[in-house]
Amino acid sequence: MKQYDYLIVGAGLYGACFAYLAKRKGHRCLVIDKRGHSGGNMYCENIESINVHKYGAHIFHTSNRKVWEFVNSLCEFNNYINSPVANYKGKLYNLPFNMNTFHALWGVVTPEQAREKIREQRERAGISEPRNLEEQAISLVGSDIYEILIKGYTEKQWGRKCTELPASIIKRLPVRFTFDNNYFNDLWQGIPTGGYNRLFDKLLEGIETRLGTDYFSDRQYFDSIAEKTVFTGPVDQFYGYRFGKLEYRTVRFETSVLDTGNYQGVAVMNYTDAETPYTRIIEHKHFEFGNQEKTVISKEYSSEWKSDSEPYYPINNERNNCLYQKYKDLADSETSVIFGGRLAEYRYYDMHNIVEKVLEHPELKTTE
Ligand code: FAD
Ligand code: UDP
Repeated sequence: MKQYDYLIVGAGLYGACFAYLAKRKGHRCLVIDKRGHSGGNMYCENIESINVHKYGAHIFHTSNRKVWEFVNSLCEFNNYINSPVANYKGKLYNLPFNMNTFHALWGVVTPEQAREKIREQRERAGISEPRNLEEQAISLVGSDIYEILIKGYTEKQWGRKCTELPASIIKRLPVRFTFDNNYFNDLWQGIPTGGYNRLFDKLLEGIETRLGTDYFSDRQYFDSIAEKTVFTGPVDQFYGYRFGKLEYRTVRFETSVLDTGNYQGVAVMNYTDAETPYTRIIEHKHFEFGNQEKTVISKEYSSEWKSDSEPYYPINNERNNCLYQKYKDLADSETSVIFGGRLAEYRYYDMHNIVEKVLEHPELKTTE
């Protein structure tokens, strides 16, 4: 009998939830992560008593009651509602696209007037079946919003023309004909009181966790100590990039401490023009309604992923999806390896998607 039932590679959300539920079923787990901390991209660093979302702003939102109850059983969530503001050349607009945005842009007052404006612009563009992000955006919200709030931001974020990106990316954003600045449509949202690390402390409580430990540094040893491996790193790396490398976008953060209590008055401000080199500025204290004397902001820059940077966003275009399918075929034939999470499944998952996947995993599912 091997020492562990599961070796879990990655102490991010997928790995930590898997470990928690497996332990609850009586399984022996070892979690390893190559980073010096758990939490994956949700990790918070404490700077000036502010929980800084080190790898980018994370807002938990879901409409799945089981998921919401599960995370709330581990830690308390506050009532933060994400309402980012877009800054286009110094002029501010509310997001997601809603009556406040339409009013600021066109002076329209009623939903019918806003719909009419969009209808006119859609017809002028002559799009019937949107084939890419640009066409999808124009047919959803018209050409003005596309030019001012979407084109510059999206092309900075993805490093590709909107005409070369899949329509699905923009479908994530709500379009509303009400005066409602809530960025998400979900029933529940919030930030763990005290930051995301609290959630991970609870998930990994009593589970052997080795940080600063890369699976690939001694693969043979790690494969020998557990009955099964749960792998949450990049799937192409697992297979030695044998079919070629999947592409990712990476993000870089320029974080500074400022000697002011309130820099921008909102947690997230998107810079939607093409000229500003960063996509957004995060002011972390606002996620937890902080009133510390100082503030911490992070400017977020998006760039193409290289082997020495962190892979963040899978680029689900045709080339990459075909390549991923080849890796997936191999992964599906494994009997002692489980692939899960954003990197191993090469999917643009949100946190609630990850929790749901783990809760539903056949090896962990409980009938209660
Ligand atoms: P990760 O968090 O990436 O964890 C994988 C872990 O595996 C990492 O810790 C890594 O170090 C480790 N690992 C990889 N390879 C190895 C190896 N060889 N050996 C050992 N360890 C290894 N979701 C939301 O719901 N709301 C948001 O607002 C939101 N904002 C986001 C903003 C940004 C900038 C990004 C990038 C993502 C955002 N997400 C958001 C998505 C969220 O981060 C993911 O859904 C979630 O973190 C995925 O968890 P995971 O475990 O799959 O991956
Ligand atoms: N987007 C945009 N303008 C904005 C915000 C978002 O055009 O001000 C587009 C952009 O293409 C982005 C997509 O909408 O990639 C999804 O946005 P979301 O905020 O969900 O991205 P994430 O938080 O995952 O980076």
